[in-house]
Amino acid sequence: MTRIEQNPAPAASTGDASGTDVGRWFATATAPGAAVARGLPRLPAWGPDPRGGYGIVSAPEVVDEALAVLRRASPAAVLTGAGMSTGAGLPDYRGADAVPRSPMTIQEFTGSDLARRRYWARATVGWSHFTRARPGRAHELLAQLGRAVPLTAVITQNVDALHQAAGSDPVIDLHGRLDTVRCLGCGAKISRAVHHERLLTMNPQVARRLPELAAETAQAPDGDAEVDRTADFRYPVCALCGGMLKPDVVFFGESAERARVDAAFEAVADSGALLVLGSSLTVMSGLRFVRRARADGLPVVIVNDGPTRGDELATVRVHGRIEDVLSTWYARLAGA
Ligand SMILES: [Zn+2]
Repeated sequence: MTRIEQNPAPAASTGDASGTDVGRWFATATAPGAAVARGLPRLPAWGPDPRGGYGIVSAPEVVDEALAVLRRASPAAVLTGAGMSTGAGLPDYRGADAVPRSPMTIQEFTGSDLARRRYWARATVGWSHFTRARPGRAHELLAQLGRAVPLTAVITQNVDALHQAAGSDPVIDLHGRLDTVRCLGCGAKISRAVHHERLLTMNPQVARRLPELAAETAQAPDGDAEVDRTADFRYPVCALCGGMLKPDVVFFGESAERARVDAAFEAVADSGALLVLGSSLTVMSGLRFVRRARADGLPVVIVNDGPTRGDELATVRVHGRIEDVLSTWYARLAGA
C-alpha cells in the first residue's frame, strides 16, 4: 500500500502558520488508512482508523478527572473536529456537499474548468443536505458548557457553522465556512445561499431535477456518476472583478487564512487548558494546537471515540461519545 508521508513537521514548526501548506496538514503520520484513490491522497481524517480502538468508554473517574483538570486550569480553549457533527443531520461529509471521495485539490479546482463544473454541480445537488443540518446534542451541550464555565474560544475544523447555530461564542472557523463563497481575485465574500440561487438560474436542467438528484446522491454517496456527467454545468464568476469563485473552505493543498490561524493560536495563548472534542488530530492543522499547548505547559484533555494522533500528548484522555461526556460534565457543574 502506498502511504502518504508528507509530514515531517517537527514540534517547533507548528506555530509557523505561513509555512503550513495543505500537503502538510492533510498528510498522515501514522494512518495506514491513507489510501491513494485515483492518484490522490484521501483525507485520512474521514476514514476510521483500521487499527480500531472505537467504542471504548472511559471509567467515570477519568471523566471526572478531566473536568477537574479543566476547572483548575480554566479558562479552556476548545478544538473541535468532525466527531462533533456526526448525528447533526449531515449524512456524511463525502456525500453532503459534493466533497468527492478523493477530495478535490486546490490545484485541480483552480487549474481546470471541468473540475470546477464538476465541483459546483455536485455542490449544488448536495446543498440541500447541508442546509438541513442542525446542531446536534454535542453542539448544544458545548454551548451550555460555555455558559457554565469560561471558554476562550471554540476553534473548529468543521465548516458547517453548527457551533454558532448552537450558540457558542466566539467560534473560530479554522477551515472556513461552507455557507460562504470567496473570490480568489478580489477576496470578496458572498453568501453561498445567493450563489446557490445563481447556480440554479444558470442551470435550469439541474434546477428542475434537483430533488431527484439530491435523493440519488443521499442514497448512494458513491454513486455520483449522474452528477459527474454534467460537464456542461455552468457557474458564475465574481460580479465585482470577474475572478474565480470558490467555497470559502480550505481545500486539500491549500493553507488556512492567516488571520484565522493567528486567532486560534491567540485563543490557546489566552487559555489555561486545551480541550479537544471529536478530532482524530490526523491533520497538522489541528495537532499543532495540541503541540503548542503542551509546549506552553498547558494541560490537554482529549475526548474522542477512537484513537487520535495526540493521545500521547494528552494530560487526560477520555474515550467515549462527546455528548455523553459533555452531559456528565454539565450535570456535575449544574448539580454538584
Ligand atoms: Zn472578485
